Amino acid sequence: MDMVVRTSRAPEAGETLFGQDFTLSPGGKGANQAAAAARLGAEVTMIGRVGKDAFGSELLEVMRQEHIHTEHIGQSETLSTGVASIVVDGEGENRIIVVPGANTEMGPADIAALAPIISQAEMVVLQLETDLSMCAHAAAIADRHGIPVILNPAPARALDDAFLQHVTYLTPNETEAGILAGMAVNSIDDAEQAARILLQKGVSNVIVTLGPKGALIVNHAGSLHIPGFPVQAVDTVAAGDSFNGALAWQLTKGKTLDEAVRFANAVGALAVGKKGAIPSLPQLPEVEQFLQD
Ligand code: ADP
Repeated sequence: MDMVVRTSRAPEAGETLFGQDFTLSPGGKGANQAAAAARLGAEVTMIGRVGKDAFGSELLEVMRQEHIHTEHIGQSETLSTGVASIVVDGEGENRIIVVPGANTEMGPADIAALAPIISQAEMVVLQLETDLSMCAHAAAIADRHGIPVILNPAPARALDDAFLQHVTYLTPNETEAGILAGMAVNSIDDAEQAARILLQKGVSNVIVTLGPKGALIVNHAGSLHIPGFPVQAVDTVAAGDSFNGALAWQLTKGKTLDEAVRFANAVGALAVGKKGAIPSLPQLPEVEQFLQD
């Protein structure tokens, strides 16, 4: 659950300020990715955990409203629902503290028990606001069954090569690509260099998202820049998550990677054109109309 406070400036230590407004907004990278794919028409099963608190109940309700299967979202007896405390200052700069809470309770053993569910999927989509060893285990199970894996490596964390070898599509933004590859990424050329380092670690395809500039596909066949769509950005929350949900859905529809990335760029552009995380995600007709215009 995203708890967003808007204020003219962030408080100093020990200082109390009056802010401008407060919004409570369902979010979290996993939930955003799931909702993005579901709104486009994908059948989505979400695996995760919330707390036995008001936020947990509300998030489960939101997932159901988005037609996402929630049977494998557990409820922790002891830990709170994951929250992000977000302070947005007058310059639009974010300061964010994430408390993963119940998300940290799930480990590899929980995922092993869900192997029969995972093995029926057409695509497994992961992000890193959860336990790393659990994610790695989910990727390994998917790989064993020949199921492609998309990993949105956000928030950026050091990843073992053993995990990366199970990743079919790695989708860092420029900052994350830089952290994972151990270099500064300030241009499309840098992004390509970072992606090549990640390919050497065993990933099959790297798609570096480039904000308004779109995305760069890098694999052993070569590299291709797919330009973004010019839009008036209102709120960049969930841009990357919506991109990943859309990419997953397109690839399961049998689209080529180039086509899927172009479509995901359109979904990302539509998501930055509206406020909020899940509320900003487009439905399929909106994307089709946007691509025709
Ligand atoms: P993240 O949100 O993870 O930091 P990006 O900022 O790279 O990731 O955004 C993800 C995708 O969303 C981009 O690849 C692009 O398709 C789209 N996008 C993001 N910002 C804009 C923007 N200002 N204008 C148009 N498209 C955008």
